[in-house]
Amino acid sequence: MINFLDRPSLLSKGVYLQVPVRITLLDESIIRSNEPEEVLTYKYNKLGNRFIIPWRKIKGKLRRLVLEKQRYYNIEPSCSLKDDLCMQCPSCFLFGGTGETSSANVPYNILSRIYGETFISEQPAEEINPYTANAVSERDLSTGQALMTILTVPKETTFLGVVTIKDPTLEMASIIIDNLKRLTRIGARSVEWGRVKTEILGYHLSDREDLSAYLKMANIDVDFSCSGLQNETSFPSIKNSYETLNVQVKELIKSLTESN
Ligand SMILES: [Zn+2]
Repeated sequence: MINFLDRPSLLSKGVYLQVPVRITLLDESIIRSNEPEEVLTYKYNKLGNRFIIPWRKIKGKLRRLVLEKQRYYNIEPSCSLKDDLCMQCPSCFLFGGTGETSSANVPYNILSRIYGETFISEQPAEEINPYTANAVSERDLSTGQALMTILTVPKETTFLGVVTIKDPTLEMASIIIDNLKRLTRIGARSVEWGRVKTEILGYHLSDREDLSAYLKMANIDVDFSCSGLQNETSFPSIKNSYETLNVQVKELIKSLTESN
């Protein structure tokens, strides 16, 4: 039987915790075609036309949340995104980083342990109502030359996707799950994107990635309520999880840099 790792590992041991997630839009959201990373639509052979949210959009927000809460517990509080990763904290260990390009300037890289997939709307995107508007410059509110296409995603649209934690300890899982539940907005342009509700549908521990939202919606051999679900109450508290993982990560990094 597959189990959580006792300690975080530098080298993969081939364990995957998969967490199916449903995101519900509480506000109508806007797609602008000149900023294609916001939300898109995609035509699937089996599902037809669907709204999709690219994984990097969700991952970026999740990473921000994990880092915020870590600062609240005063763990590497100056670690920040882009060029100022500390490369030795729970957030850097979970989401990865490149040593030489961070201000920490360390001789190692960290691979992300958090994988995801495109989130797909459960409803077909039939009610797409595109119209073209003049782009308005934010600086002077004058109407520019560029035309942009605006699509709206109706409120109450729900999206399914699976978040995967590779080689998880209970502490790593606890941190990701706690912060997934705090995901109440998506995207940098929070005003336009509006609020969301994020629900965890289950936990599935395996030696492979069994689950995917696409397979589930296309009715291909996937059951989100499958056996192997872990009881959430077995996760350690969020504060303990950060503090334990922080110590473990620093030990790992120390063993890595001393052997060089
Ligand atoms: Zn860090």
